[in-house]
Amino acid sequence: MLDKTKKPQIVLEKTSVVYNQGQSNEVRSLENANLKLYPQEYVIIFGPSGCGKSTLLYTIAGLQKPTSGTVSIDNSEIYSLKKSDMVEFHRRKIGMIFQAFYLIPSLNVVDNVCLPKTASGDSSKDRKIVSETLLKRFGILNQAKKMPSELSGGQKQRVSIARSLANNPDIILADEPVGNLDSVSSHNVMKILQELNEKDKKTIILVTHDPAHLRYGDRVIYIKDGKIIKEEIVKKKISPDDELQKEIEVKEKISPDLKMLMRAFKDLTLSQIGVLMAPFKAQQLLSHILLSMTFEQMDKTTKALEEIFYSRKNFDELAKMLDNSLERGGAGWDKRLAQSFTNEVRQIVSQGRQIDFDNVIESTNKLFTYLSAKFRLGLTPKQKERLRDIINERLKNKYSVEKVILMIDMPIKNGGAGLDKRTAKKISRELEILLLVRYGNKTI
Ligand code: ADP
Ligand code: MG
Repeated sequence: MLDKTKKPQIVLEKTSVVYNQGQSNEVRSLENANLKLYPQEYVIIFGPSGCGKSTLLYTIAGLQKPTSGTVSIDNSEIYSLKKSDMVEFHRRKIGMIFQAFYLIPSLNVVDNVCLPKTASGDSSKDRKIVSETLLKRFGILNQAKKMPSELSGGQKQRVSIARSLANNPDIILADEPVGNLDSVSSHNVMKILQELNEKDKKTIILVTHDPAHLRYGDRVIYIKDGKIIKEEIVKKKISPDDELQKEIEVKEKISPDLKMLMRAFKDLTLSQIGVLMAPFKAQQLLSHILLSMTFEQMDKTTKALEEIFYSRKNFDELAKMLDNSLERGGAGWDKRLAQSFTNEVRQIVSQGRQIDFDNVIESTNKLFTYLSAKFRLGLTPKQKERLRDIINERLKNKYSVEKVILMIDMPIKNGGAGLDKRTAKKISRELEILLLVRYGNKTI
């Protein structure tokens, strides 16, 4: 938790790190950094590769002496300490976790975790107890006797986290700790960092270039070209579990058809897949945007609607078909959606069936009444008259679809109905669907 009323724990003042100073290959890895970090804070250091994140971290760790400026931790200026005090400071105060783990390949897991305690003066038995307690906490006690090469990436990182805690330091510095891990192991490591911050009250400084991690911390420090360019307090902190939940939801949203296609296209090049997928993508996108339906659901829905037009099924049966699960031969819709969709279809189909081309006047009146009510048009008498005329002309096939839109949109003084273009398109689309239903219905 960020608490600025506390005394800062880590203070950088005008701290710069310049490599190869004065030479043609001079690099200003850290420039004039001013920074205050507070006890028990979870800080994220964020920026592109090569911007100076690791340099900043190692400077805080006491591993990279600044070219100018100071670094103070718990009120002592660490690069002014004498060598032995500096070693002691680093050992007691700082735990480090790296992307590359840096386990000693010739030592087994327990001994790797014990390593920082070598100079502690504890007996080897006590050191082992601490080590095993940590391994147990992170669920890897049964790997204790193994060599690092026998572990997975996620296990190695848990060993290195255990090692960073061997001396129970207040500050944990993590340099892209999940950069080499799969998503499940990454999640585990990020959960451990959260727990170390919230339960163990450690100050955490996490270096990352993954934007997904930004809201895990209390504050984000943005770095670019060696400079701190921005600081942001995280208003709505999230847990790595929230992120995992989102990932699961996204995975579940990928339609089964798409998953199947991805498998089938395994051996094709990306551009070959692109060509083959174009029609499918169009349909998927349409169904996704309109109704979040899969291809299979679309297909079943179309078939169910055909049954209505062949007059083999009634509307209640349509609702049932849409609502039934795919396994039971239905379209797998949500019940309420199936119901409201069926009502809409019922309305359109029954209205369409009433169109009688031998009685255009009466059909015009019915269509006019239906459309005015459906779109809540609220027309003036003049507009009503014009809209009626337009519908009438369309029924007699004297107006094309385009002409209908044009006339509805046209101002009254120019002979149109004086509505706006969007309404014109809506009315025209509905009218065309009604006509289509009428034409398509062989039974009338
Ligand atoms: P980041 O961790 O954000 O990727 P680094 O802090 O590792 O960035 O590096 C910042 C810059 O300093 C880079 O341009 C890098 O090449 C340079 N750099 C880092 N270490 C050294 C070094 N020992 N000698 C020379 N240049 C270095
Ligand atoms: Mg780095």
